[in-house]
Amino acid sequence: MKLRFLGATGTVTGSKYLLEAEGHRILVDCGLYQGVKQLRLRNRARLPIEPGDVDAVLLTHAHIDHSGHLPAFVRDGFEGPIVCTPPTLELCRILLPDAGRLQEEDAHFANKRGTSRHHPALPLYTEEDAAKAIEQLSALAFDRWADVGPFRYRLRPAGHILGAASVEVEHRGRRILFSGDLGTDDDLLMHPPVAPERPDWVVIESTYGDRLHEAVDPLAVLAEVLTRTIERGGVLLIPSFAVGRTQAMLYCLHEIFRQGMAPAVPVHVDSPMATDVTQLFRRSSEYHRLSAEACESVCAIAHYTRSPDESKRLVERAAPGVVISASGMASGGRVLHHLKARGPVARNTILFPGFQAPGTRGDALVHGAKRVKIHGAQIPIEAEVLQFDVLSAHADQAGLVAWLGRAEAAPREVFVTHGEPVPADTLRREIQDQLGYAVRVPEYLETVELD
Ligand SMILES: [Zn+2]
Repeated sequence: MKLRFLGATGTVTGSKYLLEAEGHRILVDCGLYQGVKQLRLRNRARLPIEPGDVDAVLLTHAHIDHSGHLPAFVRDGFEGPIVCTPPTLELCRILLPDAGRLQEEDAHFANKRGTSRHHPALPLYTEEDAAKAIEQLSALAFDRWADVGPFRYRLRPAGHILGAASVEVEHRGRRILFSGDLGTDDDLLMHPPVAPERPDWVVIESTYGDRLHEAVDPLAVLAEVLTRTIERGGVLLIPSFAVGRTQAMLYCLHEIFRQGMAPAVPVHVDSPMATDVTQLFRRSSEYHRLSAEACESVCAIAHYTRSPDESKRLVERAAPGVVISASGMASGGRVLHHLKARGPVARNTILFPGFQAPGTRGDALVHGAKRVKIHGAQIPIEAEVLQFDVLSAHADQAGLVAWLGRAEAAPREVFVTHGEPVPADTLRREIQDQLGYAVRVPEYLETVELD
């Protein structure tokens, strides 16, 4: 069996791993590169494999850096199944068409402003391409073995987000385990990742390979911020990712109100995608920690804004309360209208609950920017701006090493991927020092013989 690293080397995006044996091929994840231009250009480059030569794609989870290249892969000739858990399938139905729409919008704006070297600029793929890719999705429950060619594989719970899996592939009695993105053991909503059994090789993510999460009580921190904002008569604006973070914030607010830690104020979710994902959460109680009843009462604390008109009315609404809106890094979406209205007013609070990538508006704001450009206008920022980085969906260094250390026997070799160079190399050293496993950080396009 041969393993080739087609992405997520030296970076956290573009996850793609190719397994090859006896003339058959499996691709584990088919993610989009995001972030700096040098990486994004790889999305346009031809892959070093013909999509038509791949038997199946095994998808760890729905995040775009793991699934977002699928529409292009299918358009370019991939005809096999895209296997994933049932919630991942449902999430892809929501996320992939949106990704296609964004690609089309980007191309449209580039053409309008003449900012592309290509005339006309073409989208990487379209909403229609995404719709076609969705038809090839095929659900497989956790822990069931399935076959393709000479391979056997199964999906194992990985925590992280709804439906997220580690992928284990077996060929002639030898097993390789791809961690996918691993969640934390004490996630408020997701179950902890399941321990590896006896894999011969492991490919492990290293997003937070050089970091330890702070041990703080998210409810206490959030209750304090909310109380302070309400006492000022302000609005707490939370720019949030639609998947995972929005539901975790709703859960925190529900607990804060239930335990009387802050006054119960109206909560609004102004993001059609976040609303769709929250509905999916409600239907998928076997895939997270909340019972159906608990989930019902968490979801019921919010009003969900659908139409643009409703959203506009919410922007103009002056009363104290909480507004959760996407996108999570304030790079686009309805949250921009809220930022324009709430940012210049000192009694309001803008709370970023997630990681802010360098170069985004969210990053500028959490670093103290006094004005930001939105829709062509300079908006002064007088509101209190905070980053709330305690609800990570990723295991930290200790969590990653602990997960790996739970294997029943030492793997023959561990490959560290899905991290920037420093986190990846730091995790490599920790695995070597603490567990004594053979471990290394593979290069982009490197091929390894697994025998
Ligand atoms: Zn992820």
